[in-house]
Amino acid sequence: MKHLLCTLLPVFFLQACKKNNGKPDTDTTYNITISTPGSEQGYLYVDGKYTGTLVPGTITIPTGRHTIGVALQNSWSYLRKEVDISAKSTVGFSLADKPVPKTWKALWIGLNETKENAAGSECSTHFSTSELDEAYNFFAWSLKEHFEKYTYGTTQWETERKDITTPIILSKESIGYTVEPSSITTLLPQIQPGIYDCIFVFWRESEGSCSFPGNYFGLAWSNPLADATKTGFVAVKFDAGNNIADKINDYKTNDPGVWIHEWLHTVGENFYQDVGLSLPEKESGFSVHAAETYHYTFPWMDWYRDFVSGRIPNHNGSPAYLGIGPEALLKCTVRETAAGSCK
Ligand SMILES: [Zn+2]
Repeated sequence: MKHLLCTLLPVFFLQACKKNNGKPDTDTTYNITISTPGSEQGYLYVDGKYTGTLVPGTITIPTGRHTIGVALQNSWSYLRKEVDISAKSTVGFSLADKPVPKTWKALWIGLNETKENAAGSECSTHFSTSELDEAYNFFAWSLKEHFEKYTYGTTQWETERKDITTPIILSKESIGYTVEPSSITTLLPQIQPGIYDCIFVFWRESEGSCSFPGNYFGLAWSNPLADATKTGFVAVKFDAGNNIADKINDYKTNDPGVWIHEWLHTVGENFYQDVGLSLPEKESGFSVHAAETYHYTFPWMDWYRDFVSGRIPNHNGSPAYLGIGPEALLKCTVRETAAGSCK
């Protein structure tokens, strides 16, 4: 599969094409007053789509059965109810309306040694297990602070860690040195369709005079279901300098989004589009890289939040907001889709 260049580049062009979607006919509508636990402010969704309305408050909803959801701003929780709308009424949310989160399964792999070829005399880069512990903690931190928060608790991530001590032979591609999925899957036969949603590989770019540069920080493969393993694949190439903990802290402070950025490539370029969601228009081929087109700024954390929660304002018209959203995240994951175990 195709590699992604995953450093966000400045964007100078706005997409000019507009979609020609007509608005659906609306039937009778009713004013519905929405309340939240402790009157905490939240973003209101109807049938999985962000309405642009903050609640507590009142909104007009068409007659019929609807899924009404609220993503609470401060507690990062999503509450949902299915409601028959047939009259002016009040819908009150409580914490009991929090759905059971969908479990996503990650395999995190730290590479102890990476090298250019199998010959033996060339240089290698290395991470010790304690250095990989630092990297794994960075990943686990991001799962809590970004993945699970931005999904408003509709996902919970279970991670298996499996470091590889066998030297991994790098591939030389047009963007530089890469760890290809096949170099990992041949060593780990447990990677099969339906087992993991995404594999995250972490390896060392340079060590002393040994260097495997590439024009990227992280790479993701953007169409997991088209790959043999039907699993998302992400590789982060880390320039650890003299002290990996210092480098990671610097990223956590100034540019913390690498893990969620790469994960979003695995689900935000094809996977959710293929089930009919409206994601941002692609910039240079990738929806995840369209942040500046939609007027978001570095380090893009608001972009990832709104991408995941389906709240990117769509300057091109209809639908009003773009992205994934909590209702979609409660449905089939990548591995469930791969296994055919999900309706
Ligand atoms: Zn990218």
